[in-house]
Amino acid sequence: MMNTNTPLTLALSKGRIFDETRPLLAAMGIELIDDPEHSRKLILDTNHSAIKVVVVRAADTPTYVQYGAADLGVVGKDVLLEHGGEGLYEPVDLGIARCRLMVAGFAQDAGMRSVPRPRIATKYVNVSRGYFAGRGVQAEIIKLYGSMELAPLVGLADYIVDVVDTGNTLRANGLVPIETIATISSRLIVNKAAMKMKHTGLRALVAEFAQMVASPYEAGPCQ
Ligand code: AMP
Repeated sequence: MMNTNTPLTLALSKGRIFDETRPLLAAMGIELIDDPEHSRKLILDTNHSAIKVVVVRAADTPTYVQYGAADLGVVGKDVLLEHGGEGLYEPVDLGIARCRLMVAGFAQDAGMRSVPRPRIATKYVNVSRGYFAGRGVQAEIIKLYGSMELAPLVGLADYIVDVVDTGNTLRANGLVPIETIATISSRLIVNKAAMKMKHTGLRALVAEFAQMVASPYEAGPCQ
């Protein structure tokens, strides 16, 4: 296990990414002391006095790291694509929280060309705008913050752009996957300036993550 005295803050995205990163950290010998389920503290201590963890909304993780409020973070590629990646290195594909960023809609509209100027409901506004523009489709993008699948059902949009894992949510709402925009997994991101200023500590931690991904940790003692 690494041994750094450089103070480092790691930002984790709430939900599935947090749940799937925790065993990875444990296998690296990094354990949370504060229980995020019960603690009201927003900056969580670990068993390494120099390493702190903040758990934030997925869409906020790149922002915390971009501005150096956290030195590094774990975030879905979907969120990273939407953010744009400014000020960030993306050194390791952690291979967790895998899914696909997809266009979905009703089966009868799967041809896409059947809807002349489609309305797209999504929280991935930038990605969607770029994707449809790149295909020469004049689309109107409608920003939503959740329950994207509802939009076509109530006539708010023709299609949605959202992350799909099993496809169960789409199926349950009578929708089908139409096109894959990107395959998604969680990435380790690092603040570019911190990578220079805290080079030794950060490099060691990034190397630990990379090594953990390369060697299966599922069989480790912390699972
Ligand atoms: P599904 O398994 O396709 O029914 O996905 C259920 C819901 O979970 C979908 O509405 C997605 O928005 C969300 N979801 C699935 N995979 C991920 C992921 N890797 N990260 C974040 N949200 C996800």
